[in-house]
Amino acid sequence: MTISKILIANRGEIALRVLRACKELGIATVAVHSTADADAMHVRLADESVCIGPPPSRDSYLNIHQIVAACEITGADAVHPGYGFLSENAKFADILDAHGITFIGPTAEHIRLMGDKITAKKTAVELGIPVVPGSAGEVLPENALEIARQIGFPVLIKATAGGGGRGMKVAKTEAELEEAVSTARSEALAAFGNDAVYMEKYLGHPRHIEVQVVGDGEGNAIHLGERDCSLQRRHQKVWEEANSPALNVEQRMKIGQICADAMKKMKYRGAGTIEFLYENGEFYFIEMNTRLQVEHPITEAITGIDLVHEQIRVASGAGLSVTQDEITFSGHAIECRINAEDPRTFVPSPGTITHFHAPGGLGVRVDSGAYAGYKIPPYYDSLIGKLIVHGRTRVECMMRLRRVLDEFVVDGIKTTLPLFQDLVANQDIANGDYDIHWLEDYLARTAP
Ligand code: ADP
Repeated sequence: MTISKILIANRGEIALRVLRACKELGIATVAVHSTADADAMHVRLADESVCIGPPPSRDSYLNIHQIVAACEITGADAVHPGYGFLSENAKFADILDAHGITFIGPTAEHIRLMGDKITAKKTAVELGIPVVPGSAGEVLPENALEIARQIGFPVLIKATAGGGGRGMKVAKTEAELEEAVSTARSEALAAFGNDAVYMEKYLGHPRHIEVQVVGDGEGNAIHLGERDCSLQRRHQKVWEEANSPALNVEQRMKIGQICADAMKKMKYRGAGTIEFLYENGEFYFIEMNTRLQVEHPITEAITGIDLVHEQIRVASGAGLSVTQDEITFSGHAIECRINAEDPRTFVPSPGTITHFHAPGGLGVRVDSGAYAGYKIPPYYDSLIGKLIVHGRTRVECMMRLRRVLDEFVVDGIKTTLPLFQDLVANQDIANGDYDIHWLEDYLARTAP
């Protein structure tokens, strides 16, 4: 089936990102927006746009009825969900299917399979992917101690329906367990309407390394190497790199092949990311995201492959544009997430951008819908842009990043740019020597 008009069910930089891919492929675009986003760049650049409701996400970007109606009105034959919002909502995929509209993503069945973390982990084991030692299924308060003793302390209690680091609690000792389980359960209930939790061995100093995959739904799948997203604050990624400074070529190709083989077995369709913790040379699966990720451009930088083009191709049944053998990894890329936030406290800083100047030059990509005069609405996440820098080596990439950060001007609001200026000058970062706790420790150590 051919796709001739895509409705982009998202906003901000990712709506713009998808729009760019559609334009390159000669596919017509429909933007949807809340009343708060009427002046947004993705709305201005799309061929058509439809207002789908008031500012709160649940009334607009999460409103399935309105989005389906917008497809009907405009005659869009496919929907790209971006990331966040409805991108991992199996019901949304089912409803589009029932309306004869193509969902640019995996099958609803695969979204469900990976959306529940206990099922996802069981599936990973069946597919030959290494996992973190932990409980076989849900953990109840009455059997928590027995399971924790089997796993060995410290343990991590995690929400089955989890996301964004919510409903996650560490118990270092037996004494801390009861409280950790009950807090995790109540947080999970509040955040996801589901209090089921499970337990994992808590790894002390891992890196977060994830593998990008794409499948055609027919049993062909490729991997595009890994990304290192260890620099996190409150389990939120801040800075990402490809390749990981911790892996060599053999390790990269080995874990990549394991992931690609798993996707072949599943007959996975679309782009996906398999997330691991990595410690002492071992990989431990934590989850799979069945969508495009924020940090996908660093993979594009080192492979030259446009992941949104691939998503659209496989959704239309045209298959992958490359085979595994044709993929080469070239140089090094780093992404900095530019948030409208205080660079130290991370308190959101919505407002009007008075001056905006994006850097340029070789190896520089800025994905952002921001411009001078743009008023950042307070209703959504604070990501206003992504800076992606590519170099032939990691050293060249870091030197370029330092230059580029000095050029970037965003006035009128606070942004995380000054934090990146600190990080790019830091010796541990220069050495690639950091784990998932490094950034929090650094922020605590250097607090004013
Ligand atoms: P979420 O979906 O809520 O983001 P993840 O399972 O992806 O949850 O985990 C998010 C982050 O939490 C990881 O990147 C890592 O920093 C930390 N984490 C998760 N599992 C473990 C574990 N078993 N040991 C140590 N840290 C963990």
